[in-house]
Amino acid sequence: MRALRCTLLLLALTAAPAIAQQAEPTPLERQAWADRRLLDVGWKLARASADLCPDARPAIGLMLRDVRGWADPDAVREAFGQKRDFAVQAVASNSPAMRAGIAAGDEIASLEGRDPNTLPAEDNRDWKRLYDVNETIEARLRSSGAVAIARSGEDERRIAGEPACYARFEVIQDSDRAASTGLRVRIGDRWLAGDIADDGLAFLVAHELAHNILKHRLRRELPRRKRPSSRDVEREADRLATWLMARAGYDPAGAVAFLEKHGPGQDGFLYLGTSHDGWKSRRDAIAREIEAITAAGTLDWTPYFAAELAAARDVMPPPVSR
Ligand SMILES: [Zn+2]
Repeated sequence: MRALRCTLLLLALTAAPAIAQQAEPTPLERQAWADRRLLDVGWKLARASADLCPDARPAIGLMLRDVRGWADPDAVREAFGQKRDFAVQAVASNSPAMRAGIAAGDEIASLEGRDPNTLPAEDNRDWKRLYDVNETIEARLRSSGAVAIARSGEDERRIAGEPACYARFEVIQDSDRAASTGLRVRIGDRWLAGDIADDGLAFLVAHELAHNILKHRLRRELPRRKRPSSRDVEREADRLATWLMARAGYDPAGAVAFLEKHGPGQDGFLYLGTSHDGWKSRRDAIAREIEAITAAGTLDWTPYFAAELAAARDVMPPPVSR
């Protein structure tokens, strides 16, 4: 299946991050920093609209790592000073995980009565174990509202989830892309390591989260007669992103500034030519949406997306009880 690629700005990135002065951060440190930044922004957006999303689920704002996901697990273990395979990669600000005192680097000893470090791993670069652990966490949060986790040297304790628009946030390595898979919101690390403003980053993440919320991936697989065009879904995502930003406390004008900074020169790019409007049209549409938000006098976006939400609910699978 093809991801909804939103490579609006492929070539416009200013080179490298402005973190180069003293000790150059290692690639792993950069990765952890990017994960933390993405999780923070994603959590804020997903939490703020949880009561409006058709598919909100309990979450705790925790991102784990499994050293077996890397080509050289021993090197990663050593670099992080970590003995076990599973550790905390990032914790979102103002999340249940942070309030429970969980911090980046903490090693995970037990999850729901089981030591995840003892789960079989096929080989190095094994992504499936971490995927399964994330599935377990989400399933427990959905079935009981909380998940039991123990760090090294501690007993398990239950951390209660808080509702958030459903998404897993994931950094794409060595990339300046952004994409939504319907489950994951994926943002290229070059957007996260650089000097991009918070409001601009929030627009990128909100746009992809909007694709998730409005179930664009599933709707694009409908029979032709019912299927929205790629330009339609991109316009919907830009519109909803503007509201998601405002509701989370970001300045939606940051989306306009972002497009003005990174948009020029991108109109000829493949994805823009086929699926997205040009950056000026997008900027103008977002500016109109900001006026609509101001005129609405509310940040409840649901009345302004009634048809889109109905279409999203139509393609949603029935809830699973576990
Ligand atoms: Zn898009």
